[in-house]
Amino acid sequence: MSTDQVMLKVSNLKKHFPQKSGILQRTNNVVRAVDGISFEINEEETFSLVGESGCGKSTTGRSILRLHEPTSGEILYNGTDIMNYSKREFRKLRRDLQMIFQDPYSSLNPRMTVRNLLLEPLLTHNICSKKVAEQRIMDIAEKVGLSKEQINRHPHEFSGGQRQRISIARALILNPKVVILDEAVSALDVSIQAQILNLLIELQQDLKLTYLFISHDLNVVRHVSDRVGVMYLGQMMETAKTDELYSDPLHPYTKSLLSAIPSNHPSEKKERIILQGDVPDPSNPPSGCPFRLRCPEAHERCAIEKPVYREVKENHWVACHLYDQSNLDITNESDYNFGETTKVLK
Ligand code: SF4
Repeated sequence: MSTDQVMLKVSNLKKHFPQKSGILQRTNNVVRAVDGISFEINEEETFSLVGESGCGKSTTGRSILRLHEPTSGEILYNGTDIMNYSKREFRKLRRDLQMIFQDPYSSLNPRMTVRNLLLEPLLTHNICSKKVAEQRIMDIAEKVGLSKEQINRHPHEFSGGQRQRISIARALILNPKVVILDEAVSALDVSIQAQILNLLIELQQDLKLTYLFISHDLNVVRHVSDRVGVMYLGQMMETAKTDELYSDPLHPYTKSLLSAIPSNHPSEKKERIILQGDVPDPSNPPSGCPFRLRCPEAHERCAIEKPVYREVKENHWVACHLYDQSNLDITNESDYNFGETTKVLK
């Protein structure tokens, strides 16, 4: 159950990667991987970022942790601006902000036992004596479902699901407040996915964690999230509470993503919205709305003017001209129906 206190606030975050070429390595282009996204996450809340591969969701997570140095924007952690922290200050802060990656095998040193993998962050951050560390390792191993005997083994002796338990233990051993989970269950079988997701939910309640959950899997996201943000081409298209987003999506991109989820009942008919074309090159985004080249509802204005990301219902934000009130004829209030907005466009 999340509280009202904002734990992480990201404002207008940008991460652009210069592309260099030639002998002089001159910058000839810029890939706008993350291009001005804003969101906030309350304490003990799970906020998810979804979108197709390459939409910038992982780069967002990495930029928050400065694994990629952000180009610009503001990141507030617990009310404090951490964008201008020095490397030393940020290293200290990293105890509070941890990340779990998709591939546990590549993020775990194969030469180290689980015990040493868990001991290493405690020694690096000089948090406690070896004796206290030993107790802490046993506690966290138990919490993630690893036995005493297993902590003396090496990562290659474990299955994918168990290796992800080790990664979770390694992230949590420092008692973080915020955990960024980047496709943390995507590489696992469906039955193992469910076990790890349930473990993550239990740990969140037990340790009062705040999650930024990054995934392309809309079923998984629905299961774990309090709120969801939909990204496209490095920008936020829509954000809403999970139930509302899944039952009443507003943005044409969100509608198309959700239409691809198989329905739970064979009798329930769902109209699949198939998008034309591919995601545009982030170094050469289209004018106006980033989604306009694939949007089934695109109109003239979409090519000229970028839609403003605005709150159109309580806690429901959308970047789309269809929901711009200046577009709507609201003389008759019954016309102001978000489900059928195209009908009321002037
Ligand atoms: Fe589609 Fe236009 Fe809305 Fe963009 S602004 S999502 S192109 S209708």
